[in-house]
Amino acid sequence: MLFVPWRYIADWKCVLCGKCCKSYSVVLSFSEWLKIVKNYGVDKTASGVDKLFMKRRSDGSCVFLYNASNVRLCGLQHVKPKACKLWPFRVLSEPKFGYANEAVYPYGGNKFFVYADSVCSGLRYGEPTWEFTNYVLKEFVEIALGRRNGQSKTTANIGFLRPYVRF
Ligand code: SF4
Ligand code: SF4
Repeated sequence: MLFVPWRYIADWKCVLCGKCCKSYSVVLSFSEWLKIVKNYGVDKTASGVDKLFMKRRSDGSCVFLYNASNVRLCGLQHVKPKACKLWPFRVLSEPKFGYANEAVYPYGGNKFFVYADSVCSGLRYGEPTWEFTNYVLKEFVEIALGRRNGQSKTTANIGFLRPYVRF
């Protein structure tokens, strides 16, 4: 996996390919795990040596990934884990993946370093747009810092599916 500093990204928009929900194990915090267990049962989760995870199907996909009208949707919107909300971005306090000048993102008087996992199909490379810089990334940073829970710019717009899909 390759992490790209945000200054090389023009924009991001989830294209509902579902790749991220098949390629990775989602690590859960204890409170996230508890919410899922209470709402859906313990069999929707898995545990490792010292970590809790979302359960995956035999094909590797998350048990909450659904296929509707040929797009992949998350069936866990109201208790979606933070790791899923932040995907494909990493908001770090240090430039762990290099390119500090290209990754630095100022927020609230502090400096953060933001990278995207290049596996995501929704990344468009180039000069960052104003909207991406000031709205999309800001929302990702606020979610990472725990200052925001709800998603607006950091999730796919599935309004067009509302008549067909209920969550
Ligand atoms: S976040 Fe990226 S990889 Fe995941 S479904 Fe959306 S476009 Fe695909
Ligand atoms: S909880 Fe939703 S977003 Fe997260 S891996 Fe599962 S289907 Fe994907």
